[in-house]
Amino acid sequence: MKTVIYNIGTLAGILPEGVTKLEGSEMNHVECIEDAYVVIEDGVIKEFGHCPAGLGVQNRATPLAAEGGARSYAVGGVVLDSQTCRTDGADEYIDAKGGIVMPAFCDSHTHIVYAGCRDGEFRDKIAGLSYEEIAARGGGILNSADLLHETSEDELYEQAMVRVHEIMAMGTGAVEIKSGYGLTVEDELKMLRVIKRIKETAPITVRANFLGAHAVGRAYRGRQSEYVDLVCNEMLPAVAAEGLADFVDVFCDAGFFTVEETDMILSKAAEYGITPKIHANELEVSGGVQVGVRHGALSVDHLEKTTDAEIEALRGSRTMPTMLPGCSFFLGIPYGNAKGYIEAGLPVALASDYNPGSSPSGNMRFVMALGCIRMRLTPEQSFNACTINTAYAMGVSDILGSITVGKKANLIITKKVPSLAFIPYSHQTPVIEKVILNGIAI
Ligand SMILES: [Zn+2]
Repeated sequence: MKTVIYNIGTLAGILPEGVTKLEGSEMNHVECIEDAYVVIEDGVIKEFGHCPAGLGVQNRATPLAAEGGARSYAVGGVVLDSQTCRTDGADEYIDAKGGIVMPAFCDSHTHIVYAGCRDGEFRDKIAGLSYEEIAARGGGILNSADLLHETSEDELYEQAMVRVHEIMAMGTGAVEIKSGYGLTVEDELKMLRVIKRIKETAPITVRANFLGAHAVGRAYRGRQSEYVDLVCNEMLPAVAAEGLADFVDVFCDAGFFTVEETDMILSKAAEYGITPKIHANELEVSGGVQVGVRHGALSVDHLEKTTDAEIEALRGSRTMPTMLPGCSFFLGIPYGNAKGYIEAGLPVALASDYNPGSSPSGNMRFVMALGCIRMRLTPEQSFNACTINTAYAMGVSDILGSITVGKKANLIITKKVPSLAFIPYSHQTPVIEKVILNGIAI
């Protein structure tokens, strides 16, 4: 199957092969080609480049005959007719109508497999209760765990797929999904099996993250160390035996799990060869960044509360600092210091944290906008934080996150807009015209 996207106003997010993340001042730039085309073959980017005048932009359709006698132009092994843009040799032609074509967003931190929602707690939040106060009253994560326990695997899958379709339509082409609303061996496995089923049935690229240590299960209230033993000695072996997790995660923060408990869980996960990612420093400076870096975590996520010590710990590591501005927005808590991290030469990724309690939205374009509006990133920095760097944070930047020959053709085509900056600037204007996953328009 060969597809040609033509009439592209701006092809944005081009990176050379082998670049898996951008850090510091590298994040300041987005490589673009004006008046471009892309050739996709069997779901993969085969070729891209600049179109000569008359081929790329409809309203400048000068016949090539006027430019030296040729009536057509070869693109990606197919021949585009200069008048009609029709060719022989491709199966499908997509007219981008002068819009931007960019890599689909990668969302490296979500919890989109959950049952029901927590709109009741929304009222508690509005009334002034904090996230910690709601959790202390048995709400929050435990509320979701109760609902999930009563929901069948099929029903859970159906509910999650509604969200999967929702985020795909908003331009997300890869998503990491965490467990962590089960909190018993059986229910954690149930969640991870649902994630596996999404991976097998949806066109979006999925990575699964086992987050048994999201909160202490209700049956273990007051017996936290026994719950940690359950995670290490029963949940992890069962998850590994079924091959259900690409990553392991721990909520290392005030009121949740300590650095020592996190260290125990990550050590156990290492025995099964499962790479860690960490929830850290959302509520307090928790030490979660340092324990994550020590264990070679692929990312440390949240980071609303950090000091220079976290920046120093991350320097020279392979760990991607990931911030979740949608969570800061919804909870009214501080935003991570993304600008400070970039000025220190570090990379930064921005993900949605889509979950029912603290960020009930998976709109990565809004995340990109919050990166600019609330975290003071430039549109280019925010773009890179939501594409190549989130691809890195979920271990898929070798196949996604940029316009690169050989990568999966997971792309967004926008309406004709004035600039790349317009995408986060006019963030509620519906600019996404088409989303392409694996080379096919969804
Ligand atoms: Zn989270």
